[in-house]
Amino acid sequence: MSQHTPDPDRDTVRGLRKALHLAGPACQDGAAAAVFMPADVFEDEADAVRRAREKQAKTVCFSCPARAACLAYALAIVPDEGIWAGLTAAQLHDRAVGVRRAAAGLEATA
Ligand code: SF4
Repeated sequence: MSQHTPDPDRDTVRGLRKALHLAGPACQDGAAAAVFMPADVFEDEADAVRRAREKQAKTVCFSCPARAACLAYALAIVPDEGIWAGLTAAQLHDRAVGVRRAAAGLEATA
């Protein structure tokens, strides 16, 4: 019989992922889902095509009921690619760094 060993980081990410799925992501299926991935994931995508596709994906995000949950999850996992909560991976990386610096500052003053 396996025993669950608490791992705060893993359990937090798992909880955030569950909250995201329960919030009803708009990109889960259909035409909306298609703009979150290149037409051919095995081929390089031209920059102009990628930018246009990402712009469409951001439009989906801006009216998504799961956007807040998506942002929380994305800041926890800091993905290398894709559009999450209306932000690129680079934008998410910058925000994650800011959040971690702010948290470290709060801990230093506590
Ligand atoms: S905010 Fe965007 S990426 Fe996140 S779940 Fe909604 S549609 Fe998907």
